[in-house]
Amino acid sequence: MKLSIKKQFLLLFLLVLLVSLTLLSFLLRNTVENCFYDYKWAEQSKIFDLIVSRLETYYAEHKSWKGFNGNELAKLAMKEGCYFTLIDNNGELIWTSEHIIGNSPDTSYRYWRNIYPVNFHNQMQGKVYIGQFTDKIYTPNDMLFKEEVYTYILISLLASLLILLPFIMILSSMLSTPILYLQKSAENMIKGDLHTEIRAPASSLEIIKLSASLDRLRKSLAQQEDLRKQLASNISHELRTPLNVLQNQLEAIIDGIFEPTPERLDGILQEVIRLTSLVAELENISAIESSDFIPIIKDVKLANVVENVCTTFEAAFQRKNIALVVQIKKGIIVKAQEDKLKQLVINIISNALKYTDSGKVTVKTYMHKDDHAVFEVSDTGVGLTDDDKEKIFERFYRVEKSRNRNTGGAGLGLSIVKNIADAHHWKIEVESDGKTGTTFRVHF
Ligand code: ADP
Repeated sequence: MKLSIKKQFLLLFLLVLLVSLTLLSFLLRNTVENCFYDYKWAEQSKIFDLIVSRLETYYAEHKSWKGFNGNELAKLAMKEGCYFTLIDNNGELIWTSEHIIGNSPDTSYRYWRNIYPVNFHNQMQGKVYIGQFTDKIYTPNDMLFKEEVYTYILISLLASLLILLPFIMILSSMLSTPILYLQKSAENMIKGDLHTEIRAPASSLEIIKLSASLDRLRKSLAQQEDLRKQLASNISHELRTPLNVLQNQLEAIIDGIFEPTPERLDGILQEVIRLTSLVAELENISAIESSDFIPIIKDVKLANVVENVCTTFEAAFQRKNIALVVQIKKGIIVKAQEDKLKQLVINIISNALKYTDSGKVTVKTYMHKDDHAVFEVSDTGVGLTDDDKEKIFERFYRVEKSRNRNTGGAGLGLSIVKNIADAHHWKIEVESDGKTGTTFRVHF
């Protein structure tokens, strides 16, 4: 049977309360019983002393046990439930009232017996056995008193239960409210409410932490949801423009408005190439971003990868009349998936080329003083503002969108770079004064 957390708390507290109250009343009852028993025995010992002192007085008066008659003393003792047997120093029986016990209906009770010396002038003149049925030390009045005490204990137990019950209910509700709140918040998140802040009304550290974690999860889901929506709109926007151009051009050719000249066909081909590379970049991003992408790490010679990429870029740099300065330190090994490292190098160098109109691009690899490898590309291009530096790694983000449209970028290159670096746990650093060039650094 599944119970709500509130009911579980309530039952648990009730159980604890019942067990502790029962234990307490049991202990109390036992203590009362023992104390009362001890008190009765202390009272009883007075009668033992009286028997002994009467016997000593008798001996002091008669100097012998001859003619001793213990009838009266036996009666007195029996009133208090006691019996005695007097024996002289030779072990001879002088007097006993214990023979009555043989016929007593009380013999099923435990009979307690002790021995006391009977002295005269500090010399023992005999000994007396005094006995009593232990369970018979209580008078009817004593029994009544005991019953009353036990009834009061029971009443206090029930009263405490009644007084504590409302507190228990308040406590269980206090403890279960934050948990119920978190459960409701999680349900709301499942239903799609990702914009209501989660802050459980709790005072316990664990619940506060759980609530904060759930709120972080909510924020990150909301962010992902926004990104997903933004991505869908960005992709359709990016695809629509070249597709419209293609459609218009092709319709014009079919309608005979344009001649299918080699230049026009080349223009159409360029748009198709742009579309193809956009789709390739998107594929690339989704492959790296998928949760199961784990780079296959090997030891890679950084110099080889960077030099190869620089060689393929040489012609493009010459065409744009920009100097490519390469300063490579040989022998640096980095742990990487080689094709992803190459992609990162390509994207950063190609950006440096794209966003530099004159001057030079310097590509370096070296060991940092903290003993890790660094790949660095600095250009003398347009530079980046502090605000742009924060955003350039977002998908589809482009500084001055119209200008970049001419350079052919869709704003995905650096997003791919960031994903590759994150998957390898590398750090990227961007430096720029916003005017005279930019430096990208990857710390391996
Ligand atoms: P794109 O395909 O548009 O180049 P990226 O993701 O590679 O997309 O870069 C995002 C934006 O960052 C670019 O549009 C550009 O405005 C800016 N950027 C990237 N590299 C540089 C650079 N070296 N100098 C100046 N701006 C740059």
